[in-house]
Amino acid sequence: MNVKWAYTTVNTWRECNRKYYFASVLANHNRKNLVRRKAYELRAMQNLTMWKGSVVDKFLEVVIIPMITAQKELDFQCLSEQAVAFARKQFRFSENKLYDNPELKKGDIESEYCILDIHETGQPYTEQDLLVCYDDIRKAILNIPLVVLPDGRHLMNLLKEANWLKPNVEDRLVYVGNAIVKPQMDLLVSDNWKPVIIDWKLSDSMVSDYARQLQISGLTIYKKRLDTPGKPPYLFEDIGLLEVNLLKGIAKHHDFNQEIYNNTIDYISLTSRDIALMTGEDIDIEDFELTNNQVSCKNCNFRLLCGYLIKNNNIYDEGSYLKSVPDRQLV
Ligand code: SF4
Repeated sequence: MNVKWAYTTVNTWRECNRKYYFASVLANHNRKNLVRRKAYELRAMQNLTMWKGSVVDKFLEVVIIPMITAQKELDFQCLSEQAVAFARKQFRFSENKLYDNPELKKGDIESEYCILDIHETGQPYTEQDLLVCYDDIRKAILNIPLVVLPDGRHLMNLLKEANWLKPNVEDRLVYVGNAIVKPQMDLLVSDNWKPVIIDWKLSDSMVSDYARQLQISGLTIYKKRLDTPGKPPYLFEDIGLLEVNLLKGIAKHHDFNQEIYNNTIDYISLTSRDIALMTGEDIDIEDFELTNNQVSCKNCNFRLLCGYLIKNNNIYDEGSYLKSVPDRQLV
């Protein structure tokens, strides 16, 4: 049986089987089934740190990259203020819980759609936390023209001189055994007709390593090319993997070669077997074990839903669930 495979799915599975169930089995956007809809909303929910990164990703996708493609003049000072206005609009969307409104379809309001944990599950925050987010968004946009790539070129030169740019790539699908692999790539650049995959980051952590995520994208581009009739295969070194940290204003190159390709194939094959065991028609929430790791639970988007279902024999009632959630009692 084929299984949908993604790096985040594997990580979620390893962290907690029940969390995997909520995110990958139960979650569904259809409003007819209330518990499935709630799992879908909780999966999409972000904390402020994740959110500021997603705002910058989206702003690059819908504003900056199209301007570069159209060869428009870029005033980064002005764009940084536009990005903050864009963020404020998303914030209001979440604050007013407009995602509860069945009239609003996510596809029609993609740029505005936003669910923040401070509104959905009542996570505490201060005005200062929010101001820091807006400052970081501003700083990330202002840093774009300052980023120098490991090969000495400015990021902006790569983008302006590219054969083409494609932001938010989600349509490159390949099979690795029974695993369907379709990673999301922030930006795909054709640099002298060779692919460069860019991952935008806003993390200020010094220890984060995003190599694996980019290598999976590299593998997808490499394999996809093998399936393209009439085109010669890429050499591994033709595929550029770049992690661009816009908060720090630095770019990091990640290697891609035969050994990394083989290791990535092995990793996908191995982990997809675990997922295949827990995919099917007749699986039930009780088949999925809970983690004992309190840190995972503390940071889990499904924490309140998980606790509610445990207390209520896995039976969901929207009214009583919302009453149990801080800030939701008045809904
Ligand atoms: S709250 Fe804990 S046990 Fe429940 S789904 Fe999340 S991580 Fe798993």
